[in-house]
Amino acid sequence: MKSFALVAALAAFAIAGCDAKEAGNSVSPASQEPQVAPILTTADAKDSYTYARPQEARVANVDLDLNLDFASKRVGGTAALDVIAAPGAKQVVLDSKGLEISAVTDASGKPLKWAVGASDPEKGAPLTVALPGEGKQRIVIRYRSAPGAEALQWLTPEQTAGKKYPYLLSQGQPTLNRTWIPTQDSPGIRQTWSARITAPEPLKVVMSGERLTPEGEPAGQGRRAYRFRMDKPVAPYLIAIAAGDLAFRDLGRRTGVWTEPAMLDAAASELQDTEKMVEAAEALYGPYRWGRYDVIVLPPSFPYGGMENPTLTFLTPTFIAGDRSLVGLVAHELAHSWSGNLVTNATWADSWLNEGFTSYFENRIMEAIYGKHRASQEAALSFDEMTKALKEAKNGDSTRLHLPPSDANPDGGSSGIVYDKGAIFLRTIESIVGRERWDAYLRSYFDRHAFQPMTSALFLADLRQNLVKGDKQLEQKLMLDQWVYQPGLPSNVAMPDPAAFADVDRASSAFAKGGPPPSEFAGWTTAEKLRFLNSLPRKLPQEKLVALDRGLRLNEAGNNEVLFAWLELAVANRYDPAVPALERFLTTQGRRKFVGPLITALAGDSQWGRPIAVRIYAKARPLYHPVTAAGLDKLGLAPAK
Ligand SMILES: [Zn+2]
Repeated sequence: MKSFALVAALAAFAIAGCDAKEAGNSVSPASQEPQVAPILTTADAKDSYTYARPQEARVANVDLDLNLDFASKRVGGTAALDVIAAPGAKQVVLDSKGLEISAVTDASGKPLKWAVGASDPEKGAPLTVALPGEGKQRIVIRYRSAPGAEALQWLTPEQTAGKKYPYLLSQGQPTLNRTWIPTQDSPGIRQTWSARITAPEPLKVVMSGERLTPEGEPAGQGRRAYRFRMDKPVAPYLIAIAAGDLAFRDLGRRTGVWTEPAMLDAAASELQDTEKMVEAAEALYGPYRWGRYDVIVLPPSFPYGGMENPTLTFLTPTFIAGDRSLVGLVAHELAHSWSGNLVTNATWADSWLNEGFTSYFENRIMEAIYGKHRASQEAALSFDEMTKALKEAKNGDSTRLHLPPSDANPDGGSSGIVYDKGAIFLRTIESIVGRERWDAYLRSYFDRHAFQPMTSALFLADLRQNLVKGDKQLEQKLMLDQWVYQPGLPSNVAMPDPAAFADVDRASSAFAKGGPPPSEFAGWTTAEKLRFLNSLPRKLPQEKLVALDRGLRLNEAGNNEVLFAWLELAVANRYDPAVPALERFLTTQGRRKFVGPLITALAGDSQWGRPIAVRIYAKARPLYHPVTAAGLDKLGLAPAK
């Protein structure tokens, strides 16, 4: 995922692929035995955010048959689960949150005993089902989701670009899919899945798997059914759905974009390098194993930058800048097809195995396509983010890559650690062993562990066995345990290229010393603009803000990252002329990385900012995804219901 954990106040804001336009040629029989992925049994692989007890009975496959009901904001139907039970196991424990269950049966329709246990506000409730037999067996759950299911956002027509049809989108990571799918919702319990979804015409449904019925099939009563299949075992947070007035355009031989018709030209133009990115990624770390790589550009309320749903990356429209300057986001989600989707953190304490690896890989894809200079600038920005996170950490332990229990919750960890320190660790290994040797190792790592869960300890053991190979000197140089298990920054860290921002840093100190804003700003890359804005002192005299605003036309910035960096500075300095731009920004998109810090900063400034926050939040909240609103509601800006 590409989102960003904020520290302290917003602990709830955290870290946070469509295939087959032409499916059908390679349909294999439905009776094909699903692959069963192993479950790790070591103590560090135990996920405390699931009720499942996979050693006794584990879900290996999920078959969904669901209707989308936009009027009641519910999905309803059945989930048939293929369960594999250990000898003597009498029950299977699933995760559920808010699900309204009406019946549980075996494959023949015979009722089974079931019970929902006490509910926890974060984890939801255990759903325990008495197993009908021994070994592999099938249970069928009839249910519907609650109208407030956290994974699902139901948009009114007014909340879409086209304004004509409603829209549904889901976000499963980290533990939200249990609000619409009763299964074992843990990243270490991989499952194959299939789905048949009906929706009212003319809405189209897409999911994160192979599309078996590109145009859908008549389902009666003005509805169409769409069928999907994922025959590779995936972590259940990767099951994703979107439905709306969707159009598709090819980007390359196996790549394409879905979005609302009004967005199609802009999205396709911004995404024109997508096929090249897949090729670059394959050249680095081996074949892309998921068939098609499509993306869907969602309505602006999508809470994250992107979500790496297999075969169908979900993307915020805020990455569209008109000049492909923010497509690092696409490289990031694509890289997750290896790090995260192929090899997956077994628990959220090891999120860095998903996000740090992916941030490293993202930068390598950017280098392959846009050259060393752009990549070194983006790596230097990432180093700045890590430095900031290390400085702001509430305690040393939270700067460990393998997160301590206090931060090991699904939304835990600061992005500057999990994403950036993780990537910088891998860059450090690269600098010590050399790129060729490191790339060969990494490629073999993805092959060895494809479709399997991973822990920090398992990764280090693999690295020692296959890269270090008993070389004591190398072992000493790498400082592996210190990187993963100790706080702070080891002394062997590979520093960013000092030349990456030499010109920008000169301009920034000249401005801080009283000079005019840099005249070359308009011609700078996005990374250069961000470095400049982020390197300015957080407190500036009003005349400096006026000079920046007028000289660089920052309130009109079309690039959302640049606009965000400016608005952060403006809010920190109570700069009134930026308020209209701020209001526009906060009421037209709901990406948590942007709205979280800005609204939090406003809310924390009781004299100037808080009244502005109250006014804007009242207007913006209906646009935001439940996970975005849930975090911000804690600030107490909305009147109590
Ligand atoms: Zn990510």
